[in-house]
Amino acid sequence: MNIFLGTRKNNTGGDRMANTLPGVKCTVKNCKFNEGGRLCSASAIEVNVDNGGDSAKQSRETNCHTFQPHM
Ligand code: SF4
Repeated sequence: MNIFLGTRKNNTGGDRMANTLPGVKCTVKNCKFNEGGRLCSASAIEVNVDNGGDSAKQSRETNCHTFQPHM
């Protein structure tokens, strides 16, 4: 199962925090989309079940496939 969350608001004022996905908290600091170790600046994210199935029993069985490491 793929879950797509949120759509980024337009960034009209140059505020980096305004360019993040509302309601998405992420602490993956080494992702190129991470802002300040707590927010996501991707335009959308894709979350999947770890084993490729479509059902998870715990949050730790899911993960963000939009993740990209800093180069
Ligand atoms: S793309 Fe995924 S891992 Fe990267 S900052 Fe956004 S929510 Fe976190």
